[in-house]
Amino acid sequence: MQTTNQSARADFMSMTLPELTEYVAGLGEKPYRAAQLFSWMAKGAPLEEMTNLPAAFRKKLAQEGDYRLPVIGEKLVSAIDGTVKYLCAMNDGECVETVFMRYEHGTSVCVSSQAGCAMGCRFCASTLRGKARNLTASEILGQAAAAARDTGERVDGIVLMGIGEPLDNYDNVIRFLRLVSAPEGMGIGLRHISLSTCGLVPRIYDLAQEGLPVTLSVSLHASDDETRSALMPINRRWPIAELLEACRAYFGKTGRRVSFEYTLIGGENDGIRDAARLAEVLKKGMRAPCHVNLIRLNEVRETGLNAPERERANDFMKELTSRGINATIRRRLGSDINASCGQLRLKKLAETEEKT
Ligand code: SAH
Repeated sequence: MQTTNQSARADFMSMTLPELTEYVAGLGEKPYRAAQLFSWMAKGAPLEEMTNLPAAFRKKLAQEGDYRLPVIGEKLVSAIDGTVKYLCAMNDGECVETVFMRYEHGTSVCVSSQAGCAMGCRFCASTLRGKARNLTASEILGQAAAAARDTGERVDGIVLMGIGEPLDNYDNVIRFLRLVSAPEGMGIGLRHISLSTCGLVPRIYDLAQEGLPVTLSVSLHASDDETRSALMPINRRWPIAELLEACRAYFGKTGRRVSFEYTLIGGENDGIRDAARLAEVLKKGMRAPCHVNLIRLNEVRETGLNAPERERANDFMKELTSRGINATIRRRLGSDINASCGQLRLKKLAETEEKT
């Protein structure tokens, strides 16, 4: 059982049901208690609310275990579309962002996988201060549970698109996927979960082997290596051709259509020639169905990069579709609440520094 916290006490919210059953047995309790506890934790309930568990058992859990739910520090509600953004504080004070979104076809929670990020993408707020640490499986699950509890709504889907690079915290993220999809817990179907990566190629091959049919979403953002390497340092290690080969393998193994994210940045990657080249690169590299999500840059002051006009984004999309590539421009939810991920954490870090 791995925990990234230094504590020797068991992080039992990170345990799968079979592991929890064993743990509970070690505390002298019957196996069915594990299922009860598991289901409470998936609801983000504190121990004192778990009233169908004996008080003595709960006391033991509090003493022997390490059960710490994220605490909602800040909450912003969009007046435009009802999107809710949370700043969730972990036990050691690290803060990450979690977003609850409502779509026509259901609700979805965007969770963070790391406090900060080490990937260094030029346009992204989450990486500006580097990576503080990985989140544990329970800390990722805790965000989804906290959002469900706070809104009182059922969560239909999950996107791993918050702060951090999920495949750079591989073991904890895989564990989280197993926990969040367990029917005794939140019970979210793996087909309703998307994992977004900047392209850690060996880990994409690993993920394909896990038997977890999640949607792989790949942050591409450029159609040639020179542009992509300038925007995303990871491309120097694994260039576009190798990345697309891994995506193709992912599709081959899982049968899941891969989707690509392409953030349009004014003057960097948003020309018609970029669109034409993107279509060709995808056709040649994937030889399989795929989808491109176009996103107009959420401007982050520190980066000095700008979003293109809507019209330019439309032209980009038309060029892609005319060349046979499925593409949509993603609607920006919560545009009035600083919804570009990583900015709230950044603000919090700056405020904390001012105080000390
Ligand atoms: N590390 C993962 C998840 C990160 S965030 C990844 O790289 O995919 C999810 C998406 O938001 C990624 O596609 C990321 O590139 C994109 N993104 C980051 N900053 C952005 C910004 N300022 N504007 C628009 N998209 C951004």
